[in-house]
Amino acid sequence: MTIIGSDKTTVSVATGQNDYYPLYLSIGNVHNNIWQAHCNTLALVGFLAIPKTEKKNSDDIKYRKFKKQLFHSSLSKIFVNLKPGMTTPEVTRCGDGHYRRIIYGLGPYIADYEEQVVLACMVKDWCGRYLAFPSNLDEGGVSQSCEHTDALVDSVDFGIIWDEYGIIGELVPFTNDFPRADIHELLAPDILHQLIKGSFKDHLVEWVGQYLELTHGKTRAKAILDDIDRRFSQWMGNDSKALMKVYLPAIEGHVPDDMVRAFRALLEFCYIVRVDVVMDDILAELKDALRCFHTYHTIFQTTGVCFDISLPRQHSLVHYELLIRMFGAPNGLCSLITESKHIKAVKQPWQRSSKYNALSQLLLANQHLDKITAARVDFMMCGMLKHGLVMRIQPFGELGITSFPTLICLFLYDQIHADDHHSSADVPLCDCPSYMGPIKIFHSATATFVAPSDPSGITGIIDSRSCSISD
Ligand SMILES: [Zn+2]
Repeated sequence: MTIIGSDKTTVSVATGQNDYYPLYLSIGNVHNNIWQAHCNTLALVGFLAIPKTEKKNSDDIKYRKFKKQLFHSSLSKIFVNLKPGMTTPEVTRCGDGHYRRIIYGLGPYIADYEEQVVLACMVKDWCGRYLAFPSNLDEGGVSQSCEHTDALVDSVDFGIIWDEYGIIGELVPFTNDFPRADIHELLAPDILHQLIKGSFKDHLVEWVGQYLELTHGKTRAKAILDDIDRRFSQWMGNDSKALMKVYLPAIEGHVPDDMVRAFRALLEFCYIVRVDVVMDDILAELKDALRCFHTYHTIFQTTGVCFDISLPRQHSLVHYELLIRMFGAPNGLCSLITESKHIKAVKQPWQRSSKYNALSQLLLANQHLDKITAARVDFMMCGMLKHGLVMRIQPFGELGITSFPTLICLFLYDQIHADDHHSSADVPLCDCPSYMGPIKIFHSATATFVAPSDPSGITGIIDSRSCSISD
């Protein structure tokens, strides 16, 4: 499978048009599922157009449809080169070391809910996977499929398709141009936007605030919220993921037990979906956490805080089990990987550009990055980059020690075998562990430590300055 991801990003709010819409692609059968692996294989394939119009036209229904159809047509055009791989099998070495005849397929597609709406050609607030009314998404229904949509388009009025099925019938999803691809099946789970930012921060945390206002009045509620803030503010700034870890003990005692239980169930769910290997017993735990969440989060309805708990991002929780069975552990499929890719592929190149007509400069920078990566692989294959360290010659040049890579290997060997009386002097260099990670040089470091019994200091605190290198 090919993992696709797209996500609009803003590089600067200060001057003019600085939004970019990068499209990323990765070959899915990499050796494991953790997001770092995907992040490294994710490549920029292009920038999608962001059409602009005068403000008075921006809400025009025809213009909005044009924008959406342009998005789909662009994707279709970009992926057309992959089509041969979807029809003719290719012998490929898989992650487990075995060779197989592979036919590639499109997707999954990583996108946040707003973009999923455009991708699935659906009306906002509907679910992209099942036909259920926005007022009660969790109830579920028939699976959405392009086949089903086509049948509707042939027999039912566009207005009815819109109102009754939540589908924009005039739009044709790009997946229709590819074999075995159905956009409704390819919408990937997205831990960052659906669970952490959506269900946790925008829904539950918000509702706690509303509950406190409802029960205690505005002023008292503000005091309690300040107290909750105080309980965790020393740990983090604006980071929702960090907030999750400390929120539970912070609200304890301020809200009904069932609210705490709802949070606990959601946290449980989030932690379970973030494991790297998901087995059947873990899926059972996941189901259980979801059942608890659905049981306890009704407290927000019964206390009158919120009548609408049928929200698309929160609703997505019910699809995780199936999505995990289809695509593997969602940890490797989260929009965190596109967000971190933005830094290398868009934000850093933009910083280095002249900022004028920057798009072509961004593309060139990415071409260079790709070529460097390809050259590195080629040099490694030719044996010119043994231990992968020669490329990072600069620090060693700075230190004036050209044998530094070798010294690291010997040092690591001696550290590992410190207890069993082996010395790196007795073994060939190729038996020593190699180090591939980054190396940083700190020209000096200061260590401050307390040594109360030391006679050399009046207060007992000693400063020590030393030259050091660390990884
Ligand atoms: Zn759904």
